[in-house]
Amino acid sequence: MALSGLEIYKLTPKKNCRECGVATCMAFAMALANGKASADACPYLSPEAKAALGAAAEPPIRLVTIGKDQGKVEVGDEHVLFRHEKTFYHPTAIGITVADTRSSEEIRERVGRINELWFDRVGLCLSVNLVAVTDRGGDFAQAVRIAAEASSFPLVLVTRDPAKAAAALAAAGDRRPLLHGATAATLDAFLELAKEKGCPLTVGGALEELPELTERAAAGGFKDLVLAPAVGSTGEMLRTLTQIRRQALKKKFRPLGYPVLTEVTGDDPQDLAARASVAVAKYASVLLLDTVDPAVLLPLLTNRQDLYTDPQKPIQVEAKLWEVGSPDQDSPVYVTTNFSLTYFSVLTEIEASRIPSYLVTVDTDGTSVLTAWAAGKFGAEEIAQILEKTGAAEKVRHHKVIIPGYVAVLSGKLNQLSGWEVLVGPREATGIPNFARSRWRGEEVEAGAGSVSA
Ligand code: SF4
Repeated sequence: MALSGLEIYKLTPKKNCRECGVATCMAFAMALANGKASADACPYLSPEAKAALGAAAEPPIRLVTIGKDQGKVEVGDEHVLFRHEKTFYHPTAIGITVADTRSSEEIRERVGRINELWFDRVGLCLSVNLVAVTDRGGDFAQAVRIAAEASSFPLVLVTRDPAKAAAALAAAGDRRPLLHGATAATLDAFLELAKEKGCPLTVGGALEELPELTERAAAGGFKDLVLAPAVGSTGEMLRTLTQIRRQALKKKFRPLGYPVLTEVTGDDPQDLAARASVAVAKYASVLLLDTVDPAVLLPLLTNRQDLYTDPQKPIQVEAKLWEVGSPDQDSPVYVTTNFSLTYFSVLTEIEASRIPSYLVTVDTDGTSVLTAWAAGKFGAEEIAQILEKTGAAEKVRHHKVIIPGYVAVLSGKLNQLSGWEVLVGPREATGIPNFARSRWRGEEVEAGAGSVSA
């Protein structure tokens, strides 16, 4: 059980010497209790006190790594129940199952489709994370060997049979897969395998059984555990996973302080996506699915991305001059902020205009046009600076810059500071195609088009 701040304080030397970086031993104790300091920071702690504090310094939910090197996936190490309290750190690892009863060719084909399950959204690559080979009575070790050859994703080996697990681990080589299938009856045999190969291991059973199983494993010196609680309905999954998270964070109950794996199955894509989204939101660390349907995975990955971005850090793109298509010296130059959603909205509409262009993004800490302008981050000075810094003047011979309609007020000052002629663009990005054709190319467009507000 973790120690409270006061209990930790009793173990400190009480010198208040500040060498640990905080003003008092009490402040150090509180930081340690909240997982924000390391016991090593105090040079005067006795070895006994350091040993006692070890548990207090551990995160309430253990960080577990699946795979190794560049392709590894980390799960756990979460500190809050709700994202708005701080942030979530390690996104749910989504694994797609491959049954060992498929032929070698079918396994290769399935794994190939899993490898292609990635999507580009607001400049970020969203993808699944794991290949889960499942023992359904076929040649399990051979299926694992094929999957390991065909994909660089970390593996999950799903079997309840320790003998098959041993053969599959040999086939997986040094990939450090997650071994999934230990129960109360087989825990000892699986623990031996996991220790020997240095792999993480799931322990499965009813919620009430899990603490005893994790304590058994911890007593034997093995802590790279993932909980696999038995759940039936989606409601039961939600209740069980929430209970585990609450016990780990609010009660600091160490035997449940591990990441959690769950599986969601079903044939109806909409229903599957909805139930899997529940698992991602609360609180699956690893989620196994038996589908390669993009209609299920894209909304699920989008949901995961939304949940696991830091609410205090807007998603942003680099502040620079972007080329859209193959612009030349007569191409228009647009300016906007580096907030990802703004950038991609503008980019999409410039592409829709079919006029190759330059797009200059100003570093506004990832805020949108009006927010940045109100905060003093998207003014004439900032735009003039980025035009100069990016060498935009050498790219075109017309020296006309198009600014968002909402900040038309910047025109005069920007012209003064930069020497560029300022054109006021549409307020909304959706107005860009017609603006580009009418104002830039002088073409006739339908009345009312391009006048959408932003
Ligand atoms: Fe106290 Fe140790 Fe920090 Fe000094 S270094 S203030 S003794 S906790």
